[in-house]
Amino acid sequence: MIEHEIKISFQEYGSVKELDAADQNLCQHAVNAMENSHSPYSKFRVGAALRLQSGKIILGSNQENAAYPSGLCAERVALFHWGANHPNDPIEAMAVTAYTEEFALLKPVASCGSCLQVLAEYEKKQGTPVKTILYCLEGPTWVINGIETFLPFLFFEERLNG
Ligand SMILES: [Zn+2]
Repeated sequence: MIEHEIKISFQEYGSVKELDAADQNLCQHAVNAMENSHSPYSKFRVGAALRLQSGKIILGSNQENAAYPSGLCAERVALFHWGANHPNDPIEAMAVTAYTEEFALLKPVASCGSCLQVLAEYEKKQGTPVKTILYCLEGPTWVINGIETFLPFLFFEERLNG
């Protein structure tokens, strides 16, 4: 038996104000994206914003449905919009934030496994890593560079070919 250990590293900033101007701007877009969250069931609003190499910003927000599995996370709403409309303009960074009136969010909210898998697919497709900024409105901001930090056992299409 061989035991392996995987270490990941990410940066924590005490506040979004410690980020550079472009990343602060992207976080503000993620906050604005929450306005269009359709979350009557969870009352948990999530906003995502992608910054593309051209400077273009793409927004996504969680879209829930009375038939619960039909809804989609903010990250995949933004990422699939990118894939469908701007696939040749690489994603530089993605900011994700969340808010609920139900309780205080004191730590950044991380993306779900399905969104990370979609991010992995697109990182692989564009050939460059995406900086993910997990921004908490009242608390620390985490910056993660590249999907392999986030999801070390991610599934790539090579695995489909044996
Ligand atoms: Zn998700």
